[in-house]
Amino acid sequence: GGVLYVVATPIGNLADMTERARKVLTDVDLIAAEDTRQTLRLLNHFGISANLIACHDHNEASVSRRLLSALEDGRDVALVSDAGTPLISDPGYSLVSAAREQGFAVVPIPGPSALICALSAAGLPSDRFLFLGFPPRSRSQRQAWLKDVAREPGTLILYESGKRTVATLSDIAETLGDARRVVLARELTKRFETFLFGSAAELMRRVDEDAEQQLGELVILIQGRGVGGDADGCEEQERVLRVLAESLP
Ligand code: SAM
Repeated sequence: GGVLYVVATPIGNLADMTERARKVLTDVDLIAAEDTRQTLRLLNHFGISANLIACHDHNEASVSRRLLSALEDGRDVALVSDAGTPLISDPGYSLVSAAREQGFAVVPIPGPSALICALSAAGLPSDRFLFLGFPPRSRSQRQAWLKDVAREPGTLILYESGKRTVATLSDIAETLGDARRVVLARELTKRFETFLFGSAAELMRRVDEDAEQQLGELVILIQGRGVGGDADGCEEQERVLRVLAESLP
């Protein structure tokens, strides 16, 4: 059978395209792309001509069947998304899992992903983290979603669009408290790449006052639960219990 390549592409800076990604996209028989127009622009930039097929959330099931039969015919397929690594808050999961189930070779071609890019330079603990993808759109669902991870000790990582940053920061302050360090990593690898640091409430005010900060896409990183990072006073309760336990006979 053919090989399914899962190919990461740049998240804003075309110079981040890897040599392997270029070679694979040049060599495969078929490229499955989230948005064919977007991928055409990328391919044109590198002088690659290819057979493109649209594969997005709404047609993934039917397109997967076509791609799997191409693999069966011995044709090589590459999967790309609009930016970054496929399957990471992007389509591709059902194709990859079906390809695995049917025993096809699946080869990752690694490259940029906004979450790792942001984490690598944010200055928050990186030994343990929880990637949450996009928050729900409705305020009540978003708050419940945040409360659900309030006790996670690792760094929390969210995807968000600039225009919803203020609303999401306000929910972060409300549900996780305002003691945690938050980092906004915006327009990564691009000309106006910006890192902002502060508490959720501080950053909310800053972004609210500066329309520029509401443009583009960003990654929100939140310090995990821990000393000084706790909303519900659990740390303090635990400390008091420890002190009490130590002083008991
Ligand atoms: N698959 C992609 C990846 O590997 O990072 C993510 C795709 S997801 C649909 C798009 C979201 O990723 C954006 O809303 C933003 O949260 C984040 N993102 C993508 N590119 C970014 C960039 N250059 N700077 C900051 N965030 C980015």
